[in-house]
Amino acid sequence: MPFAAPGELTFDQGVGLLRQISMFGDPMRRKDLFDLIDVARRLSIPVSITPAATPALTREMLERLNNSGVTGLGLSLDGSCPEKHDGIRGVPGTFARTMDALRWARDLGMPVRVNTLVSAETAPDLPAIHEVLKQYPIARWSLFFLIAVGRGAVLEPLDAAAAEHCMEWIYGIAKSSPFIVATTEAPSYRRVAINEMRAEGLTGEQIKRSPAARSFGIRDGHGIVFISATGDICPAGFLPVPAGNIRKDDLVDIYRSSPLFTALHDPETFHDRYGVCEFRHVCGGSRARAFSASGDPLGQDPLCVHEPRQSATIG
Ligand code: SF4
Repeated sequence: MPFAAPGELTFDQGVGLLRQISMFGDPMRRKDLFDLIDVARRLSIPVSITPAATPALTREMLERLNNSGVTGLGLSLDGSCPEKHDGIRGVPGTFARTMDALRWARDLGMPVRVNTLVSAETAPDLPAIHEVLKQYPIARWSLFFLIAVGRGAVLEPLDAAAAEHCMEWIYGIAKSSPFIVATTEAPSYRRVAINEMRAEGLTGEQIKRSPAARSFGIRDGHGIVFISATGDICPAGFLPVPAGNIRKDDLVDIYRSSPLFTALHDPETFHDRYGVCEFRHVCGGSRARAFSASGDPLGQDPLCVHEPRQSATIG
């Protein structure tokens, strides 16, 4: 087997890139959607697609995606019932369409990832959403902790104490959930999970081999890259600081060598709790939320109650 080039994107990082690409908008509206899928398949890039719950999302469309080799379907569910989900989304009927899509995907055997926004409005409903999802054979439930920009500005983010409480609940249900439960833009969940595992008596080596450890070290600009509709190369969708543009720059060069990405690869450069946190290499804070809060992508992620001590090991 050939050796990977130093710094080459891993499979998960490549999938993360494709998911970020899917944030350009509803991919179902692209006339060249199936041509792009075909090219990606020929390049051996796994394709995951996150369509909006519009009338374009039909059983026939899912069948066609499934037959074209799409390996993952992402759906959004922000409430456990039509009133809550449609109220958050602002579009009547999206809860029903999402439930239809879950059923069709189950019938077709398509792996599904469900994305849920975590905010002050949705947090009390998370246990009920979890119960709804347990009725379907989904592969992953991804809980996106709101960053208050753009559309999210009309919703209220959790404060750090409420987020800590929520992360402890997530860790508790993740252990027995029939699907993977993961967080997005909440890397301090890794600290919560590590502390819970330590309390359960797991050793440092056992923690490193745990499912939660798969995402350790991945954060905005490090394992994730976002390319805007106009070609700007940014560290994440919620960190809109261009380090280059795909029309004139090489994506791999920018990712590996630009000053912004280079700094984001190295937690020692962060000002996050003065760069001394013992969890900085596994967590490192949400760079997007740090930027949203202070304008500094290397600054403090405010969604964390932890007061660091100065050692740097997991075990
Ligand atoms: S202080 Fe920063 S690096 Fe440490 S756990 Fe909190 S967010 Fe993560």
